[in-house]
Amino acid sequence: MELPTRRWLLTRGALVAAAVTAPAAWAGPAQAALPVIDMEMVLLAAQVDPPKPDTGLTPGAKAHVLPVEQALTALGLLAASAVDGHYGSSTISAYAAWQRHLGYSGIDANGLPGVTSLTKLGEARFTVVNPVRAGSRTDAYGGRLVNTRTATMLAAADAAFGGDITLSQGSYTTEDPTSAGTHDGGGVVDISVTGLSTTQRWRLVKALRTVGFAAWLRTPAQGFPYHIHAVAVSDPDMSAPAQRQVHDYYFGRNGLASHAADDTPTEYRVPFTWWEKSQR
Ligand SMILES: [Zn+2]
Repeated sequence: MELPTRRWLLTRGALVAAAVTAPAAWAGPAQAALPVIDMEMVLLAAQVDPPKPDTGLTPGAKAHVLPVEQALTALGLLAASAVDGHYGSSTISAYAAWQRHLGYSGIDANGLPGVTSLTKLGEARFTVVNPVRAGSRTDAYGGRLVNTRTATMLAAADAAFGGDITLSQGSYTTEDPTSAGTHDGGGVVDISVTGLSTTQRWRLVKALRTVGFAAWLRTPAQGFPYHIHAVAVSDPDMSAPAQRQVHDYYFGRNGLASHAADDTPTEYRVPFTWWEKSQR
């Protein structure tokens, strides 16, 4: 049943595309008529919006989320009533269905747009700018498995910190059951703080946050040995539990089951950012 379904969707997509692009032929180049969507803003909303108790919008994201939702609706994957610019759980599910229709599974069908799936969804519908790429999934940092984007971010944080960042756990791993699935996908690492003073630990948290990690010092009082847990904001390979931690970080919470206030001292906090934005 899989192939006929996909063919039907693509055929229907082509029909919609023809209807949309025909008037543009009179006004000028067809490309000029397509909306331009910022992938960074779509990813931001896809991480921040789903756990919200309502359909609240992420500032700056609506114009970029709407064309994605409209495309999913045109393909029969999202109810028209859910096209609202809020990238909530319905949109996550619909996007994951789109990824499965493209033949993806597992972390590749996590409901967060990747460059390939988003570009295909946008064919004759919208143009994608500011692509976010995780890069190779078999890269490493200090001998631990991470993707290329995460390795690049860690190197930048290391340079800002002025010390050596030592990972105690990498990404794409289910080896630690106490991590609640956050390390199953990309962008997530644990960093050793052994041998660092309290001030150095907080400075390292700040350095990580500055390059776009949602990073927290985990403590014995929280039920962990001391370490820093860090999630690379907007990594397209992120697992669902890691996505929820970015939501928490965005709203100044701790990313744990308690969702308590972030206990990071004020002087070590920075405005919310992500890697690509931090480099502009
Ligand atoms: Zn961790």
